[in-house]
Amino acid sequence: NPLQSSCSFGYTVKMEYLQSIYGSSLLAISDLLCIVVWQGSALEQAIISQRPKLEKLIATTAHEKMPWFHGKIDREDSEQRLLRSSRVNGKFLIRQRENNGRNVSFALCLLHNNQVMHYRIDKDRAGKLSIPDGKKFDTLWQLVEHYSYKPDGLLRVLTETCPRPSHDSVQGATGGILSRIKSYSFPKPGQKKVLNTHTIVLTEAMPMDTQVYESPYADPEELRSTTVKRSDLTLEDGELGSGNFGTVLRGVYQMKKTQKIVAVKILKNDDNNTAVKDEMLREASVMQQLDNPYIVRMIGICEAENLMLVMELAELGPLHKFLQKNKHISMKNITELVHQVSMGMKYLEEHNFVHRDLAARNVLLVTQHYAKISDFGLSKALAEEENYYKAKGHGKWPLKWYAPECMNYLKFSSKSDVWSFGVLMWEAFSYGQKPYKGLKGNEVIQMIESGERMSAPADCPAEMYNLMRKCWTYKPDERPGFSVVEPRLRHYYYDISQ
Ligand code: ATP
Repeated sequence: NPLQSSCSFGYTVKMEYLQSIYGSSLLAISDLLCIVVWQGSALEQAIISQRPKLEKLIATTAHEKMPWFHGKIDREDSEQRLLRSSRVNGKFLIRQRENNGRNVSFALCLLHNNQVMHYRIDKDRAGKLSIPDGKKFDTLWQLVEHYSYKPDGLLRVLTETCPRPSHDSVQGATGGILSRIKSYSFPKPGQKKVLNTHTIVLTEAMPMDTQVYESPYADPEELRSTTVKRSDLTLEDGELGSGNFGTVLRGVYQMKKTQKIVAVKILKNDDNNTAVKDEMLREASVMQQLDNPYIVRMIGICEAENLMLVMELAELGPLHKFLQKNKHISMKNITELVHQVSMGMKYLEEHNFVHRDLAARNVLLVTQHYAKISDFGLSKALAEEENYYKAKGHGKWPLKWYAPECMNYLKFSSKSDVWSFGVLMWEAFSYGQKPYKGLKGNEVIQMIESGERMSAPADCPAEMYNLMRKCWTYKPDERPGFSVVEPRLRHYYYDISQ
């Protein structure tokens, strides 16, 4: 297929699936593919991590593209439209009724012997659509398909579409995925994309709907600079968190065109400790080289009353604390978040960076459905020809997250990050419990050396525990890389999202 082959990356859009939804509306499919090619990697990442939700959205909003869907028109208007030109029995259209509160309902308007019958279509709590006492459907187009071959309670079957006037844009459309992807994906060169906030409120926000999906410097008019002027930065009261170096505050950064809400890591300068300052500058220099939706981006460094690292804000804070407080979060939701972390880690692996401190405490949440990797204080960029970093000696290390070769040979690689990722998965699926609870660092080392591993968290899906065990393969050469771990998580997430 020429359209499909024009996609420059490995993801293939399922043409048959889209065709089954859009029927003859091939324009929509080619639009979607253009978008896919147009936006390249940012959109590729969005599609990979959000595919099940995108498919559902496409399916539930596809009717907006259908000629029989006339949007929010009133009863009289629908009758005039149906009685205009041909008056074939079974001619029909669907209109959206005035919303009663939050419930959306539609009406199927059907022509029979020069009279228009109006059948109400209600949406139940589970989102299923039905004519009173009729069969339930997930989507309007499935309902239309069904009544096109079976009257099933209607006066007759649906025959001919009463087409929406071509100049008429659909009023009352919920802002389906197409309008959403379109508004997302076709900025003119130099223009920042504008998302329809109305759409975001109506549907669950996806990563691509947030301010921190794309780099603030993706807009070419916002010149990338590693330094932030103090006069452009306003700090707010209230800590987001704290660490060895000092505190993290919320702030507002005035950019050339927009204001960004940011997180600001502020170095405490008690005794002007240059070592800590150098450490923070090293962290900044690593972060500056990274640009991925699943990694906290650095916006810049501000040198003023204190040294400050200005970063993207991930408001919901560390993953383990969030899960400890939110035990109702589903396994599917946890899988989604863990998969996003694996996407960020795959990016690091591909770009020859080792994180060295991957743990649930260093995964921050932007929303319940959007995770970013943070804390690059221990991270290292590997030289082209190297595949590991050799530490000069033991340090203050998070031993429970470290692979055997880190402890035994001081060797750190993407493979040792995979080991830590296995521990992170364990933390996530146990809702933020401490790994190897009650054991000291040296006892954990003994346990690993003896071949024993942590047991599965309660209710953890077998597929996910098996993957953790793979991540805890003793020899790094036999351990999978993120190029293997990420697709395994992806496919499992797609499977449970069916
Ligand atoms: P450690 O003491 O583990 O070394 P650290 O000193 O490197 O940690 P961070 O983990 O970077 O400190 O930040 C400490 C806390 O500040 C985090 O746990 C989190 O609660 C908050 N925080 C850090 N960065 C952000 C951010 N970008 N958005 C929101 N909160 C953040």
